[in-house]
Amino acid sequence: MQTTTEYSVCQDCLMFIAYGDEPDDGPDLEAAMKREIGDTGGHFSTGIAPTEEDPDGSGHDEFSRSSCELCNSTLGGSRHGVTLIIPVPSDG
Ligand SMILES: [Zn+2]
Repeated sequence: MQTTTEYSVCQDCLMFIAYGDEPDDGPDLEAAMKREIGDTGGHFSTGIAPTEEDPDGSGHDEFSRSSCELCNSTLGGSRHGVTLIIPVPSDG
């Protein structure tokens, strides 16, 4: 069992989640991720659950002015879907 939470994140966050590639000058993405994950033992994965409008489950938005849901960057730009996956111990 697991629970999932979808986030809409900026290019920097997507790259960090996909490749562990942290920008030299920017917010501390590792800290931002750890803040979201907390002590749940969860992890981030790129992509979101596919829907009829988004069959690839990329959550891609060419341009958005809404802030990144992970690092809170308010820079307008592309947004990508990522999912926080948290394992849930079964009740037996
Ligand atoms: Zn971001």
